[in-house]
Amino acid sequence: MIAEKMKGLVANNSAIRTMFEEGKLLAAQFGEENVFDFSLGNPSVPAPPEVNQAIIDVVNQEDPTFIHGYMSNAGYDDVRQAVAESLNRRFGTHFSSRNIIMTAGAGMAINILLCALLNPGDEVIAFAPYFMEYNTYVGNYYGKVVAVKPDTSTFMPDLDAFAAAITPKTRAVMVNSPNNPSGVVYPESTLRDIARILTEKSAMCAQPIVLIADEPYRELVYGGVEVPYVTHFYPHTAVCYSYSKSLSLPGERVGYLVVPDEFHDFANVITAATIANRVSGCVNAPSLMQRVIKRCLDLKCDVAAYERNRDLLYEGLRGLGFECIKPEGAFYLFIKSPDPDDLGFIAACKKRRILIVNGTAFACPGYARIAYCVPYERIQRALPAFQEVAQEYGLGQR
Ligand code: PLP
Repeated sequence: MIAEKMKGLVANNSAIRTMFEEGKLLAAQFGEENVFDFSLGNPSVPAPPEVNQAIIDVVNQEDPTFIHGYMSNAGYDDVRQAVAESLNRRFGTHFSSRNIIMTAGAGMAINILLCALLNPGDEVIAFAPYFMEYNTYVGNYYGKVVAVKPDTSTFMPDLDAFAAAITPKTRAVMVNSPNNPSGVVYPESTLRDIARILTEKSAMCAQPIVLIADEPYRELVYGGVEVPYVTHFYPHTAVCYSYSKSLSLPGERVGYLVVPDEFHDFANVITAATIANRVSGCVNAPSLMQRVIKRCLDLKCDVAAYERNRDLLYEGLRGLGFECIKPEGAFYLFIKSPDPDDLGFIAACKKRRILIVNGTAFACPGYARIAYCVPYERIQRALPAFQEVAQEYGLGQR
């Protein structure tokens, strides 16, 4: 009955989601406190109280027909203008409402942009390790993801491999910083290198290659690390943003797409992406949430809670002899599998009811992702279980 295209997805459902569902079964069997589920990037800190207050205020103070109504497919003009002005204040950009489309999260922002840009067979480069939903998003428009391997000593892109991966079919390149799953933040020098390569290589393409900055984790950085604003380095950059993590609102589905004036064929691209929002069936980003976002633009969730989690987990695992780099942002730690087969490592963890996701699910075999957006106590309770795994693999304690 189902379409050929869906058969592959049904057979190989997301490794993250599968692990998450297994976690729920184990929790029912052994009790939630005895299962160490680190599978899903679901925020563990609540939305700031101002967000809940803003929901109440919008409902009480704004015109009820207006707040639940349809609006332009790009979103409310005043909300888009407010988003643009907030970006200008923070990053010295020059956006206005015409550069912003409100979307149902970053996922939808990426989708409408790809819908606007891709022809069947077009290639989209992603730097491994990367969020595997890119494969399905690109596949939605019959494109193909080309993965570029990382330098695993830093988890920065291997720039020579990147340059070599670009072909006349390359339509776009995804950058995701702070990164899911490695937690690295690309410094300005890396973004400038990517921009330089794109400028040089675009010369062999019929039109400029597009840079897509996927930024759901922009606000989640630790120790004052700066996340450079990517449109400053390359004109054909679109930014996909989300409030899923920054305001802990993943279920509310709200974010936006930015396309700067300088972007090649700007007017057509923004019109096509707006229409894509409609024809996707989303029509527009959720109305109530747009109104709430306008009142919460300068807020973020309790990032310090994630930083405490990161420190406990990183120090704990390093102390047990595991290898990993210290994440500077997002809420993931990417650990080197002590087993040549990362699925063997995942199984050894699962035996101790630790649920993590194998690196292959991020196009980076030999590693595993630990999502530390969990209660602090879960990490405390999980460390002895991690110690048993370390012992199984004979890792030396530091
Ligand atoms: N991009 C990355 C790298 C993500 O990790 C996620 C979600 O986890 C998304 C995009 C999608 O986020 P949203 O909930 O805003 O659609």
